[in-house]
Amino acid sequence: MAKYKIIQDHERCIGCGACITACNKNWAIGDDGKAKPERTEITEEEYECNKKAADVCPVKIIKIKKIE
Ligand code: SF4
Repeated sequence: MAKYKIIQDHERCIGCGACITACNKNWAIGDDGKAKPERTEITEEEYECNKKAADVCPVKIIKIKKIE
């Protein structure tokens, strides 16, 4: 059951790869050279990894919202 939603301001991604280093289970570089999450709705177990990705993003474009 998804508990959180990942919102990324994809256009503003600079493709630095920091989020992928932090959480390669859910983040990868796409064909456009920008990172994107494989899943945008995540469980409690997946939160920590994705939170790390959000924290290391130098342009702060990854937000994680609680949904339930
Ligand atoms: S850390 Fe931020 S700017 Fe860097 S690739 Fe990931 S989303 Fe893009």
